[in-house]
Amino acid sequence: MMSYKIAIIGSGPSAFYAAQEIFKSEQTIAVDMFEKLPTPYGLLRGGVAPDHQQMKTISKSYDKIASHPNFRFFGNVTVGESVSVDELTDRYHAVIIAIGAQTDRQLNIPGEDAIGSHTATEFVAWYNGHPDYQSSIFDLSKRSAVIIGQGNVAVDVTRILAKSTDELKQTDITNQAISILENSQLTDIYMIGRRGPAQAACTELELKELAHIHNVNVQVHDDLVLSENDQLEMDASSKVRKNIQQLTTIKATGALDSARKTIHLMFYLTPVEIIKNGQNIQKIRFEKNKMQGDFGHQKAVPTGEFIDLDCDILFRSIGYRGVPLNGVPFDQKSATIPNQNGQVLEDNGNPCQKLFVTGWIKRGPSGVIGTNRSDSIETVRQCLASIESTSIAIDSDVQELLELKNIRSISFHDWKIIDEYEQAEGKRVGKPREKLTNIDDVFNVLNNGVA
Ligand SMILES: Cc1cc2nc3c(=O)[nH]c(=O)nc-3n(C[C@H](O)[C@H](O)[C@H](O)COP(=O)(O)OP(=O)(O)OC[C@H]3O[C@@H](n4cnc5c(N)ncnc54)[C@H](O)[C@@H]3O)c2cc1C
Repeated sequence: MMSYKIAIIGSGPSAFYAAQEIFKSEQTIAVDMFEKLPTPYGLLRGGVAPDHQQMKTISKSYDKIASHPNFRFFGNVTVGESVSVDELTDRYHAVIIAIGAQTDRQLNIPGEDAIGSHTATEFVAWYNGHPDYQSSIFDLSKRSAVIIGQGNVAVDVTRILAKSTDELKQTDITNQAISILENSQLTDIYMIGRRGPAQAACTELELKELAHIHNVNVQVHDDLVLSENDQLEMDASSKVRKNIQQLTTIKATGALDSARKTIHLMFYLTPVEIIKNGQNIQKIRFEKNKMQGDFGHQKAVPTGEFIDLDCDILFRSIGYRGVPLNGVPFDQKSATIPNQNGQVLEDNGNPCQKLFVTGWIKRGPSGVIGTNRSDSIETVRQCLASIESTSIAIDSDVQELLELKNIRSISFHDWKIIDEYEQAEGKRVGKPREKLTNIDDVFNVLNNGVA
């Protein structure tokens, strides 16, 4: 029986589900996974909120996939920079791109560059210990924070800003984040949506969590009177129904006098300008919206009425966006890699023989971790069908290339040493782990046993 070699770029959920599906094949297939960070798991480690530890246990199922004898992990290897995609296609029968969506969408309004105006991506990556974001500075020394967006990521940011550090100290949030959050003087956190309560992108569970943060009030700035079309949306969707129920419960709950902070949920507002004092953020100007259009096609339309909101720190959370990978076609409009059933398409629409794509960079930044499984199954099926119909010349092993280029990669065995170290460091202070947040510390642990 023929044996094949497949490279996967990225090590997030979609990458692991692709490897899992490959190993189900009757063919003997070796999988090499390349990750630019020293650590695996993508947004499961660097995105999923630290106070959602249960979710992070999904990594155990990925470890099982990684324990397959035909699996190798190459952390600390950025494809498109230190190793080119062509160098991989020379050495593998197929290359599956699973690099996620690594940046965020812009508001494209004046003042977005003000000091104090941040993206949710930056904040999330910072508190989750992503090495590229550890020098970010978040000034929480004033009163009011505004989060623009009402998706689950916006709720995560709101919750992390609102929770007491006593609660967060029991999670794997970084020490640095704890020390900044500990001194936070924020009293008011505004989470603002363009559309109405019936269109809020977050889920009931996330709203419920906000409502249960110790000593924090949640105020709904809307009368929750639903239009006829909203009512139809509610009848058609249990998610909408549950969200409205939850918002109604929150609205009916009396405010605590002892509350440390208030979360304000505001709707029907589009930011149009960030007003600065010098270089610093001072206020955000919003235009009020109303919903217009038939059931199923309602859109937020501006009313010409404006309000200004004081803002000391802003987090823009209006969605993630894919970035191009050198040497691979990219559709700027959708910020994804064009493909058919996961097989990458050239600009002229012809399939690229050896290139495949999965996860957020394939379908855009939507869906939960489990959504990536079916996505990767589709891609791997397409990939295996294509491999089986093509014979490909294979060059040398990638290990030689990495040595030639003087790249010190991190194996899965290395990662397990780091993992144990992080867990032991965390245990000393009652946390599930204390993450290593820079590559020097990672190599120190691997070389000397201490960071
Ligand atoms: C803040 C946040 C919180 C979330 N919380 C939840 C949650 O609680 N529950 C849930 O179900 N879903 C959650 N999600 C969604 C979930 O994280 C995604 O569905 C999933 O991570 C997408 O998987 P992916 O493999 O496509 O991308 P990613 O997880 O982003 O993985 C991509 C990987 O590729 C690597 N990479 C990028 N470029 C290169 C390169 N050039 N060379 C080598 N490696 C590269 C990256 O470092 C990364 O490790 C959350 C998402 C975000 C943003």
